[in-house]
Amino acid sequence: MEFTYQGRRYPVMIERKRVKNINLHVRTDGSIYVSAAPHVPERVILEFIEKNAERIAPASDRIREKRQKQALSDGTQVPWLGKPLTIRYSPRPCPTVREGDVLTVFARTPGEAEYAFIQWRNAECVALFRELNKETCEAFRAAGYQVPYARIEIKDMTSRWGSCTAKSGRISMNIRLMQYPLGSIRGVFFHEYTHFLHQNHSAAFYAVLRRLYPDYDRYDALLRST
Ligand SMILES: [Zn+2]
Repeated sequence: MEFTYQGRRYPVMIERKRVKNINLHVRTDGSIYVSAAPHVPERVILEFIEKNAERIAPASDRIREKRQKQALSDGTQVPWLGKPLTIRYSPRPCPTVREGDVLTVFARTPGEAEYAFIQWRNAECVALFRELNKETCEAFRAAGYQVPYARIEIKDMTSRWGSCTAKSGRISMNIRLMQYPLGSIRGVFFHEYTHFLHQNHSAAFYAVLRRLYPDYDRYDALLRST
């Protein structure tokens, strides 16, 4: 979803969770993040954003302008699932599409390219995390562990890859993981799911984790090396 303010477009990421109000903030990449209860229609969310546009849009602009310097030129490579992905500008309007290690975006400037990339990245991330959540939950249950089907919150975090609130069945996952190999992302899911059984990093915790995901240490090392 996106909204327009004074002729500029802003990417919006909506997360559905059990919250009373509509919550709104600007992320470190300049995109706008909204959390709202499942029953709130998108139209109402959009109205809420528009009501706050005067505050939210300039904040987003400031962050995006600051990032322009490192923004995505034609030919820039960004890390994507552990491999370099080359950004290619399309002069004609087209949907953002990935073919192998090339991502084609409709853009004439780094700002437009970054906008297209963030929109695409957010959608890819939601789809991948949904899949991995299902896969991880099923692996634990197949092994005989009673774990909840976690509600996943996607966050942009600087200091951790994930966290688990065992009591409420909630797992937070860092969107920056999309830069790393799939096996490493899967490792974070298994790590956080293991916290449903052990709320610590004891030997018992690692015994479960390594049994269910034998490649854990190898992939975890990749997250620590950069
Ligand atoms: Zn942990």
